[in-house]
Amino acid sequence: MEKLFYKDIHITNFEATVTDCIYDEQKKLYEVILDRTAFFPEEGGQVADKGSLAGQEICDVQIKNDIISHYVKEALEPGTVVHGQVDWAQRFDFMQQHSGEHMISGLVNKHFGLDNVGFHLGLSEVTLDFNGELTLEQLRIIESEANVAVWQNLPIEISYPDSTTLTTLSYRSKLDLTENVRIVTIPGIDTCACCAPHCDTTGQIGLIKITNVQNHRGGVRVNILCGGRAVADYTEKQNSVSNISVQLSAKQNAVADAVSRLKEENLRLKELGNTLQAQLLDYAVQSLPQPNQSQHAILFVEIMNEIAIRNVINELTTKYNGYCAAFAGNDGDGYRFIIGSSSKDCRELATLLRQNFQAKGGGTAPMIQGTIIASHITLKAFLEQQ
Ligand SMILES: [Zn+2]
Repeated sequence: MEKLFYKDIHITNFEATVTDCIYDEQKKLYEVILDRTAFFPEEGGQVADKGSLAGQEICDVQIKNDIISHYVKEALEPGTVVHGQVDWAQRFDFMQQHSGEHMISGLVNKHFGLDNVGFHLGLSEVTLDFNGELTLEQLRIIESEANVAVWQNLPIEISYPDSTTLTTLSYRSKLDLTENVRIVTIPGIDTCACCAPHCDTTGQIGLIKITNVQNHRGGVRVNILCGGRAVADYTEKQNSVSNISVQLSAKQNAVADAVSRLKEENLRLKELGNTLQAQLLDYAVQSLPQPNQSQHAILFVEIMNEIAIRNVINELTTKYNGYCAAFAGNDGDGYRFIIGSSSKDCRELATLLRQNFQAKGGGTAPMIQGTIIASHITLKAFLEQQ
């Protein structure tokens, strides 16, 4: 089987003869073998090429024992000549990501002596795992150097050194093989054994951006975006920053400070809200009828600040003999309530509230809490009768 992608990575249209076609029970697809192919299979951490074969969508491309299998929905007759078309947009996107990955891994190895021990190139994410710690600041230096090498438009060279050269060659992803090792070299940046499609020059990568770094299995996992993906990410972030900038009336390069100020302001307003609530609660308590005029103390408040309300109820139960109740909410949506008493069993009242108003909740003899739907006039009148 001739691997056309090794002959020329730019071949996207090709004719090939079907040499075998069998039904794959597990995949529920036909496995097609060709005498030559331009489809790069799932290999070395990246997903397979997409495209079409004899007009059918390619569902998957796998490699096993150096045989490349193409998976399609309809059977293809062995002996027939078929036309294959590789989705160049995805192929080139993968070339940009993979070549960019080599540059980052090569430079990290060169400057920090760490090895790339894991690589995943998916449709939306590119991750690199290193066997040691790296900070974002260190990675920014690497990113910067990688982009300078992009602008220098260095050649990305593919070679198959003979066994003598290979034994003396220093390269990443060292293999036990002594021949037919495909070496990808970016002069001054990286030398690595790799079977995947690469850009012809570093300039084709366009842009290399490190987007995240986090601790991972004793080392770090780094997210990168290259070429078209990096530009798309820039556009998305530009839109996001622009939106925040308009909403906060802040310059784009000052949105982080503006958000910090907004958070501080928010905290201050929350504290102010708490103080005002406490004052309102004070006024409400002061407006209650005196204990010699009424055995119950019934409060209607805006917000149920549980701790504050419980404290108030506990204090009121020392002065009033009956029920001391606080309701928070409104007639339409209903109320949350806390009711306490020093002399009465609040659980009896809970039963009555359930029976008369389908109230929910319960508690202990000195204090109950729950929710209820009724008008405040009805609630007040009902409690005053108890
Ligand atoms: Zn590679």
